[in-house]
Amino acid sequence: MRDKDCIFCKISAGEIPSNTIYEDEEFRVILDLAPASKGHALIIPKEHAADIYEIEEELAGRAMKLAKRMAVHMTEVLGCEGFNILQNNHEVAGQTVFHFHMHLIPRYRNAKNEDILVWNHETFSPEEMEQIRDALKQD
Ligand code: AMP
Ligand code: ZN
Repeated sequence: MRDKDCIFCKISAGEIPSNTIYEDEEFRVILDLAPASKGHALIIPKEHAADIYEIEEELAGRAMKLAKRMAVHMTEVLGCEGFNILQNNHEVAGQTVFHFHMHLIPRYRNAKNEDILVWNHETFSPEEMEQIRDALKQD
């Protein structure tokens, strides 16, 4: 399914040019227009789903398998020293394009953005942690 107003539908279909580094029947992988690091790329499924809640489970699995392959390939080519795989859902979590995508972010020591993804820790009491655990626990 396509969303006619969605920029990533248009990019993944090749209707808007992109710096594509991989393409198959289901996915296009492009360089991010505003990269956090050298080689920052996005895995975009061609099928429109807004986010992790909407995407079909099997397709999400195949996206992760592709992320694994891309991470190995990109690390070999770029010589990066680490790698983040990131996926944002909803505005509060930093999502700005509402078509599911995975960020592939090569990491380099002493890079401009060395501290991306560093967050302040929150504190919860042992009782609160037990409540959270019990609420989330699944059989
Ligand atoms: P997110 O904040 O997780 O929704 O990520 C959206 C990402 O898409 C951002 O890193 C943008 O820089 C990137 N982006 C937006 N438009 C384009 C585009 N036309 N081509 C490549 N990357 C884009
Ligand atoms: Zn879309």
